[in-house]
Amino acid sequence: MRSGDPRAGEWRSRQTAPEPQKGMNTVTRPRILVVGAGFAGVECVRRLERRLSPDEADVTLVTPFSYQLYLPLLPHVAAGVLTPQSIALSLRRSSRYRTRIIPGGAIGVDLEAKVCVVRTITDRIVNEPYDYIVLAPGSITRTFDIPGLTDNAFGMKTLAEAAYIRDHVISQLDLADASQDPVERASRLQFVVVGGGYAGTETAACLQRLTHAAVKRYNRLDPALIKWHLIDIAPKLMPELGEKLGRDAQQILTRRGIDISLGVSIAKAAPEEVTFTDGRVVPTRTLIWTAGVVASPLMATLGAETVKGRLAVTAEMCLPNHDGVFALGDSAAVPDLAKGQEGAVCPPTAQHAQRQGRHVAENLIATLRNQPMRPYVHKDLGLVVDLGGADAVSKPLGVELTGLPAQAVARGYHWSALRTGVAKARVAANWALNAVAGDDFVRTGFQARKPAKLKDFEYTDAYLTPEQVRERVAEADRAKP
Ligand SMILES: Cc1cc2nc3c(=O)[nH]c(=O)nc-3n(C[C@H](O)[C@H](O)[C@H](O)COP(=O)(O)OP(=O)(O)OC[C@H]3O[C@@H](n4cnc5c(N)ncnc54)[C@H](O)[C@@H]3O)c2cc1C
Repeated sequence: MRSGDPRAGEWRSRQTAPEPQKGMNTVTRPRILVVGAGFAGVECVRRLERRLSPDEADVTLVTPFSYQLYLPLLPHVAAGVLTPQSIALSLRRSSRYRTRIIPGGAIGVDLEAKVCVVRTITDRIVNEPYDYIVLAPGSITRTFDIPGLTDNAFGMKTLAEAAYIRDHVISQLDLADASQDPVERASRLQFVVVGGGYAGTETAACLQRLTHAAVKRYNRLDPALIKWHLIDIAPKLMPELGEKLGRDAQQILTRRGIDISLGVSIAKAAPEEVTFTDGRVVPTRTLIWTAGVVASPLMATLGAETVKGRLAVTAEMCLPNHDGVFALGDSAAVPDLAKGQEGAVCPPTAQHAQRQGRHVAENLIATLRNQPMRPYVHKDLGLVVDLGGADAVSKPLGVELTGLPAQAVARGYHWSALRTGVAKARVAANWALNAVAGDDFVRTGFQARKPAKLKDFEYTDAYLTPEQVRERVAEADRAKP
């Protein structure tokens, strides 16, 4: 039997599936392995748990963390409007929860052998065989070959980064306040955010509000010395918002004193200064890099076709020529059928990832039950951009809003998209508390001495090459008695 043969998985599952657990059917079941517990992965797992009986399949989830991160509210954590816990949604809080969770990250997949290589959180490397695999490891921060960038920039993609940046920004105020050196003071009070998409714009906007409010508690600091720069190589901020809303957002930020430079990027970055491509040298200890995302490096270990790093899949989110392989979310180039344009792929948004998660679960169930799969079609519902306080711009279903109505839509949308009731309660309580009592600007100091780099937070150097994956799997096969 060839490994490409649809029956190959069935054969392997009879050979190597784990012992059925107490109370379960004694006949071995197909093994479904989901990689990544983000918007796409968690929606998929929850739908599988709901729609499949325990006898129909074993579901396993590989994830480094025990929570699903609600990424769109990350700038609120950096700004201290929300606590980190309020957007970290527990994977185990569900009455239907029965998935086996492997705490670790997938570092390679051998599509022929149908084995996923996993590095656990204790650094043990294990081979996890599967019959069906759902690849949803999301994306990482996209960086370029700019001198000093990866050593000196922070990203805004993980909970640790958001918490770290908050501490870092507050520590700059503390250190500037204590310093007698005007040059040091000036450099500690300048902040640079690169990336004029929604992530960068929201990050700059929310953190500017943080320093603006915090400086009132530092009576030795001149508020005029605090300067935020938001730069992007593109000619417009958030072009997906359209001409008018993009301009409105820019006006709001400029009014608040954020210096916006478009058509500009970073030429080089050093620990105490950043050089822009227009020649300006900005003394700063804070460079936040949010200039786009690129698919998880896991996709490159497959040796399959990619589109700008995202795995090329069909509209059913299947990998062509490989039975039982599904990919979705930020890590896959899913054709955007709703756009009706040749070659269009879905943008990397939570809105798509969540819906694709449910859709892949349905297609997987259809495969198990020998029913036809359906292509994924979803028309974008729009965009919401929370600029902090009462400032926002939103475009729900094409309607352009600014100010309080836009903020109500933005917060209402995020609140309703939170998956659990307890997360909804935590977020609402935090928003209310922050609106009434403000922030105490406390610096926790947990990571103060560790110079954190982009790759430390996103584990980008943990992956194997396709050859190393095959070698590892073959080695494990040879070692079998
Ligand atoms: C600051 C910010 C603001 C945003 N705002 C919005 C917004 O307003 N609206 C919107 O629609 N989208 C927004 N997005 C984009 C949105 O968050 C992503 O498109 C969405 O999270 C993609 O979902 P996903 O499931 O593909 O990936 P993710 O949600 O990123 O989940 C991937 C999961 O896989 C895990 N993982 C990574 N590597 C591995 C591995 N090797 N093995 C196992 N697990 C792994 C990760 O830990 C993570 O849990 C924002 C993003 C950011 C960063």
